[in-house]
Amino acid sequence: MFDVSFDKLVPEYVKRFEPYIPSKPDLELMKLYGCDLLYRLNNNENPFGPPPAAQEILRRFNPPRAAIYPSGDSYYLRHKLASKHGLDPEQFLIGNGANEVIAFVIKAFCQEGDNIVTADKTFSVYEWVAQFSGFEARLVPLKDFAFDKQGMLDQINERTKILFVCNPNNPTGTYWDEIKLRRFLNVIANRQIVVLDEAYFEFVEQADYPDGIKLLHEYPNLVVFRTFSKMYGLAGLRIGYLVGNLEVVDVIRRTCVVYSVNIVGQEAALLALDDEGHIQRTRNLVRAEKAYLKQELERLGLEIQIGEGCYIMVKLPMSDTLAYRKLMGHGVMVRSMTGFRYPNWIRVSINTHEAMEAFVDALSKILS
Ligand SMILES: *Cc1c(COP(=O)(O)O)cnc(C)c1O
Repeated sequence: MFDVSFDKLVPEYVKRFEPYIPSKPDLELMKLYGCDLLYRLNNNENPFGPPPAAQEILRRFNPPRAAIYPSGDSYYLRHKLASKHGLDPEQFLIGNGANEVIAFVIKAFCQEGDNIVTADKTFSVYEWVAQFSGFEARLVPLKDFAFDKQGMLDQINERTKILFVCNPNNPTGTYWDEIKLRRFLNVIANRQIVVLDEAYFEFVEQADYPDGIKLLHEYPNLVVFRTFSKMYGLAGLRIGYLVGNLEVVDVIRRTCVVYSVNIVGQEAALLALDDEGHIQRTRNLVRAEKAYLKQELERLGLEIQIGEGCYIMVKLPMSDTLAYRKLMGHGVMVRSMTGFRYPNWIRVSINTHEAMEAFVDALSKILS
């Protein structure tokens, strides 16, 4: 129970907020579930790791340099990104994972009474940061597994500051094509900030998939997120970024904590950007293993949702939290989806063929 005086210190919206409990370290989980091998299929990590040049820079890191502060605003990485995209380095803000830049944007534009609009079944951090900061998150149900354009527009009111669109969506893999995205942006007509979260941009091979960064010059209110955690295999170093028009980024910069991106993350990201071979290799694996999973899961008679990105969803004839525990017993860690408001579904990250076989094998066992 709260002591009465302590209780007064805590805002109501913080009291209401349920903290997210991250899963335990692998070694603890392996002890808990009694397995001696663990396939991590829960966090959409790249099984190839970072591109070779990024791995080499990590190997060559001179330990005494750990005493030195990094560039406070990731100077060289912003310049590299700017030249790659033909933009101004001041249009980029680098964060401790794209997770951190979500908070920058919300803090920059929302004040008491304001709201954000996003989907009910998408990456949860937009909703969380808004709510534990005291802002309303207006959640629009997905329609056929996809963001509902009209539903989002209908939820906008005079206090709406930001709309978050996850493209492609985590966890369903659906995306808005360029025509649909443009229609949406045209209706918004700069009245709100539109964030396009492109965490899985590098995985998408569809011709009609829009590149948000190429649309920036036409839409002043657009902000695009990218990350080095997924395709570039640097999740453990925590590095992601946002890019937008100068005026918008100049506002967001005011709420951004400098020095939050470490030295090795900055250097590894710089080198990761050059490796097209890594992207191709990863795409080939994802394509092949999605096809394998589709075939095997259909054989098991299961409903599946396969879209873009490095993950798929599977509906199970049992509770997803129970399935999680049973699969852990076989050394396979998936993401249970109750937290995403998808009870009885799991999300499975694409990984090596060996890992995918282990998953199919474990799933067949727990279902029979
Ligand atoms: C993984 C992910 C992010 C953030 O990743 P970081 O590791 O914080 O860079 C953002 N959005 C979506 C949709 C993601 O899946």
